[in-house]
Amino acid sequence: MSIYRVAIPSPLYRLFDYLPPLNSASPIHPGSRVKVPFGRSYRIGVVLEQTNQSSVIFAKLKPIANIIDSTPILSSELINLAHWASDYYHHPIGEVISTLLPPALRKEKPATLKPSFIWSVTSTGANIQPDTLHKAIHQQHIITLLQQQPAGLNQEELKSKGPENWRSVIKTLIKKGWVHAATTAIPTPATQQNVTHKLNEEQQQASNAIISACNTFKVFALDGITGSGKTEVYLEAIEHIIQTGRQALVLVPEIGLTPQLLNRFKARFQVPMAILHSAISDGERLNTWLQAANGQAHIVIGTRSAIFTPLLSPGIIIIDEEHDLSYKQQDGFRYSARDIAVRRAQGANIPIVLGSATLSLETLYNVSKQRYVSLKLTQRAKTARLSCYHIVDIRNLRSTQLLSSEACTAIQTHLEAQGQALVFLNRRGYAPILLCHQCGWNAVCTRCEKPLTLHQKSARLRCHHCGAEHPVTQTCPSCTNKELNPIGAGTEKINETLKQRFPGINIIRIDRDTTRRKGEMEKLLEQAAAGNKSILVGTQMLAKGHDFPNISLVVVLDADYGFFSPDFRASERLAQLLIQVAGRAGRAERPGEIIIQTHHPEHPLLKQLVTKGYSAFAQTELKERQKAQLPPYLFIALLRAEAIRYEHVEVFLQQAKKQFQQQTDETTDILGPVPAPMPKRAGHYRGQLLVQSPHRQKLQTLLRTCIPTIAEEKTARKVRWSIDVDTQDVY
Ligand code: ADP
Ligand code: ZN
Ligand code: ZN
Repeated sequence: MSIYRVAIPSPLYRLFDYLPPLNSASPIHPGSRVKVPFGRSYRIGVVLEQTNQSSVIFAKLKPIANIIDSTPILSSELINLAHWASDYYHHPIGEVISTLLPPALRKEKPATLKPSFIWSVTSTGANIQPDTLHKAIHQQHIITLLQQQPAGLNQEELKSKGPENWRSVIKTLIKKGWVHAATTAIPTPATQQNVTHKLNEEQQQASNAIISACNTFKVFALDGITGSGKTEVYLEAIEHIIQTGRQALVLVPEIGLTPQLLNRFKARFQVPMAILHSAISDGERLNTWLQAANGQAHIVIGTRSAIFTPLLSPGIIIIDEEHDLSYKQQDGFRYSARDIAVRRAQGANIPIVLGSATLSLETLYNVSKQRYVSLKLTQRAKTARLSCYHIVDIRNLRSTQLLSSEACTAIQTHLEAQGQALVFLNRRGYAPILLCHQCGWNAVCTRCEKPLTLHQKSARLRCHHCGAEHPVTQTCPSCTNKELNPIGAGTEKINETLKQRFPGINIIRIDRDTTRRKGEMEKLLEQAAAGNKSILVGTQMLAKGHDFPNISLVVVLDADYGFFSPDFRASERLAQLLIQVAGRAGRAERPGEIIIQTHHPEHPLLKQLVTKGYSAFAQTELKERQKAQLPPYLFIALLRAEAIRYEHVEVFLQQAKKQFQQQTDETTDILGPVPAPMPKRAGHYRGQLLVQSPHRQKLQTLLRTCIPTIAEEKTARKVRWSIDVDTQDVY
């Protein structure tokens, strides 16, 4: 009798055994979805194995209710990857498998491809004078668009360029006989001018190295300063791979932040491409997923979760900005897409490229151990000159004065030379604190016990930790004083200061608040690209990936917050951020200038970073980590828990600690439990227990033995808990 072992989303660390369905004798292939009775209801699961024995007594086994997929939707490649990830991150296999599936397939939806359409004008439609449609402006809008694009437009293009109700307008136009729809298997980017640069020598060497490894597993660490042409190297390698009929998988930190990167892919390749981002509907996501799985999509570009995209014949994986924190999932199944990618490339026996101007210390460590191959781009592709740095001591600046006179003069000079300045501050809103001078009261989020940020324009006090919002109070609730003072500054305040200081200059603010609505980011980026003589103000969103050809000056307002953080990774993050922000200057013809305002002008980290560059900094930092026995020389996992009452957290973590201690030797440390660095969030008290070992295998074995038991403890039911392997934010 065959028994099927099914992965079902549930917090339990195992598969569930079922008998074949009563009405069917045909075998079910691993990777197919089934509907099964589970508790008092039904669940959708995926068959992973077929066996003939079970630890459950036969009489208790239930039959599968029905088979959803007649052919598997998950390949053995992905099933193996899921097993590996479940084992490495100690997350239940059922939930890992469910994460792999697009939302539509977590339900009973059939895994079938819906045809995509391309709409184009008919010959009648081509001859319509758009002016005659002035009473139907939406029709006029779409006819004009389609007349300009005789090859037609697909859904994505109409959605972004057309009116909101484009679907119903298209229907009307089809009825009129002006437009017709054709199905295509998958949209190919509309033909644009093919842009290929002649690679410089370093770029050529890098892409040759990657291409010559095209049938083997090899990890390349592509270390290239901003503007050195890493993207061109990716494009060259991908071109070669897709010519051999295989697929490329490209991960980027955030798609909305990298429209330029997408445009470069579209300009270079006239092949079907699948783009996976958070804004697409479940239906579109399913289509894209299936097109990647059946090989129709030659290139797949996506964010973190796209690492699980099925590929018929994987050829190369590229991880752009590999140091970026967004590759680590920060809740639930806390995987690192970068690390899984390396594992996936190994399983598929293909090359993988980890690219960045600021490679993570983990990656540099692997280079030093000769596990990864280092490729370097040391020159800017367009300008010969590198940017120059000035450190400005702001210890004597009055606290209300945000810009030093050096910064003001520099901005003035660059504006006069038709340049553009970027003013960087990693804090949005108007002011991080609203204080009563009379009694010392300040506005605090009661759910997080942290100050609320004042947002002046919207007149709200917002908690940046839990999202809570309150109207701005005019009087102090504690002493009824009518004067409340904003303390400190965020981007909204800087924006205002700059407006006063540089009247008549266009100031473009880019942060989460100004780009919340769809399309706003693109609009602001266009403005920034179009204008010289303007100032950009923004948070770390601006540090990521954008190519701003006009920026010639970068001013970092406050570079200090990373120096004294208890998190051992804080200096690495600060260095990466500074270099990434600085990289926005001087990307095109102009050489760049960077001003860093700080209260610690003598800080060795800052000095080394500025005089010797990121690589030198990183090598020093690695030595420090080795001396202090910190990651990557140490392997860590963090058990986190939170609950309305801290006792429950404490009891759970103590219990877990006991479990770990019973199973381990003295080389493994178990530290805690202690309250989390943010001890309360959204009304929940938070605590953590750190497990660390110099031996990865020992740590893994310990977690493998203990976590499933800890999960089933009674104390676990009173908390929300998670295990985080290779934690990125420890303290
Ligand atoms: P990175 O990804 O390393 O920041 P990019 O690939 O974006 O660098 O390249 C920076 C700029 O230089 C882009 O505008 C790109 O088109 C241009 N570029 C890259 N390589 C070359 C080359 N070999 N010749 C001319 N221009 C190039
Ligand atoms: Zn008061
Ligand atoms: Zn809060």
